[in-house]
Amino acid sequence: MVTTLNLQPFFSIDPALAALDDRVLARCEKVFREIDRTTEYNQLKVLSAFIQNGVSEAAMAGSTGYGYDDRGREILERVMATAMGAEDALIRHQFVSGTHTLTVALFGLLRPGDRLLCLTGTPYDTILGVFGADRKTDGSLADFGIEYRQVDLDANGRPNTEKIRQELKSGRYKLAYIQRSRGYSLRPSLTVEDIAQLCRTVKEASPETLVMVDNCYGEFTEKQEPCEVGADLVAGSLIKNPGGGIAPTGGYIAGKHALVEQCAARMTCPGVGREVGATLGHSRELYMGLFSAPHVVGEALKTAVYAAALFEALGFAVTPGAEEKRGDIIQCVTLGTREGLIAFCRGMQSGAPVDSFAAPEPAPMPGYDDDVIMAAGAFTLGASIELSADGPLRAPYAAWMQGGLNFHSAHAGVLLAAQSMKNAGQIKGETV
Ligand SMILES: *Cc1c(COP(=O)(O)O)cnc(C)c1O
Repeated sequence: MVTTLNLQPFFSIDPALAALDDRVLARCEKVFREIDRTTEYNQLKVLSAFIQNGVSEAAMAGSTGYGYDDRGREILERVMATAMGAEDALIRHQFVSGTHTLTVALFGLLRPGDRLLCLTGTPYDTILGVFGADRKTDGSLADFGIEYRQVDLDANGRPNTEKIRQELKSGRYKLAYIQRSRGYSLRPSLTVEDIAQLCRTVKEASPETLVMVDNCYGEFTEKQEPCEVGADLVAGSLIKNPGGGIAPTGGYIAGKHALVEQCAARMTCPGVGREVGATLGHSRELYMGLFSAPHVVGEALKTAVYAAALFEALGFAVTPGAEEKRGDIIQCVTLGTREGLIAFCRGMQSGAPVDSFAAPEPAPMPGYDDDVIMAAGAFTLGASIELSADGPLRAPYAAWMQGGLNFHSAHAGVLLAAQSMKNAGQIKGETV
């Protein structure tokens, strides 16, 4: 069991906060045991994917140049397909981000004149530009004559099944798009069961329509993945869950074989597809990252649950709640004041293994009206599977936090965020 006692030689935690921490950890134990069960299941699923596909030491050797006949790359793609419960997969360090990976998948599947329907309301900021839905971006899907529409979420932030059914029946849609994670919104994330229901709705209303899932932040949080419950294709980032904190960059696409081949043609060139792409020295990191991913996701889930329980005990609104079912690793904590949000991020940063000495400052960000503050003391730039937090400087001054390579250190990071808020006089009430 984790205790506050071990922190004391290394960090100065107020005695009242330390006492609260002990109670919060005790409250988390039951949820932690459930997380451990999912982690173990997924770890064994991934281990057996390695065994089934005969991963050898030789598979880690890198190729150069065109990267023809890279056996290790082909085996890794089969391991990823098995881990995602899919027929086939691409997993490459050449994908520069999650958005790039999703873009390759969308352009791989869609053709001029096609229509696509987003089932989960307004999507993640960076994807909006890819659709060309809200603003003109050069080279967007809209530029290529692909029409984007969305069905807004209902008042509870849930997909509006009835509207989705009507829309699919009335229009000829090539693709239905689902975003699993809440991203940086306050809506609940989708569970795999929710995704299963949406897939059934789509296939009943319009059997020819493909279902694609933005799987970012969702991988290994549950025992099943979207392709196991009816999704045709998923995509995600390797500096989030499936890179296990080890992959230095990259992305993956998994799903039906024919669709993955279409994506491969877009990833490199039509007629060339997946046969090229030098792995350089990165295969070993991608193998190790995927192998560690279920465990690291478990640690990130524990960190999120702990943060929810701690900040709820301190009187702040949190979503999801500590005991709520989770479909991603994101935790939102509403801090209420500008000073509180700044103190939270500074405290978390002070407990990071890298750049602990830096004090985060609010700064303008492209695409945001308000300044944004971030805490990120990560080994990999922008890796949000490592403990990190950010939030726009506007009411209700919420921080979105995620990640944590191991709970022991992430626990300290979250507790230091609370300590920093206390030092700044931002924790009201009787609790501490
Ligand atoms: C992170 C994320 C993406 C992709 O973001 P990148 O920063 O480009 O990796 C897309 N969708 C969701 C829901 C995400 O969380």
